[in-house]
Amino acid sequence: MNIILLGPPGAGKGTQAKMLIDTYGIPQISTGDMLRAAVKNQTQLGLEAKKFMDSGQLVPDSVVIGLAKDRIGQADCAKGFMLDGFPRTVPQAEALDKVLADMGKKIDHVVSIEVANSELMGRLTGRRTCKACGQGFHVMFDPPKTAGKCDKCGGELFQRDDDNEATVGNRLNVYDAQTKPLIDYYQAKSLLRPIDGVGAITDIFGRIKAVMG
Ligand code: AMP
Repeated sequence: MNIILLGPPGAGKGTQAKMLIDTYGIPQISTGDMLRAAVKNQTQLGLEAKKFMDSGQLVPDSVVIGLAKDRIGQADCAKGFMLDGFPRTVPQAEALDKVLADMGKKIDHVVSIEVANSELMGRLTGRRTCKACGQGFHVMFDPPKTAGKCDKCGGELFQRDDDNEATVGNRLNVYDAQTKPLIDYYQAKSLLRPIDGVGAITDIFGRIKAVMG
């Protein structure tokens, strides 16, 4: 099964992706995670991407299309994959169609997680992640037992560089302008599966499983 997870920043794509991996055994391909790894490792690509990411802008299509293409071509994607945060523009979606057609693959479902913009700012600025194990928390909605420490492994929690209020505002505007058109793009292909992204994490996961059959 080949899936795209679509939705604004803060809709819970990453959280649902982790649950989908466990249930369906298919890898998560997050261009955001790949770019953050490149930034951390200070590769040439990472150095170029950082300025876009820090200001909440999109990294150029050519860069992310190359990353996604290489990743989809790897052996563990043969039985299926889940794209999280890609595509994010219509040119990226068109490039993806071509890459998949060349590989004899196709997308089965575009799971579109819907959350109102008014809710997203609070969700994003309160996010914290464990440096050691990657576990996510939220200062209001899912606080750790001890402030700044991971419940699972005791690791130190950090805030993503782009989860500050100014950058989040830009990311939400960029989503509306550049990524939202993908809803019509995939609707026209009868691939869109809209999901209400408000409620308990397990309930949202249940809605996703229901549309995937
Ligand atoms: P994310 O973790 O998906 O929220 O992505 C974080 C940042 O990485 C975004 O704000 C963009 O700057 C960059 N990024 C991730 N995926 C893409 C993409 N498909 N196209 C362009 N930029 C991306």
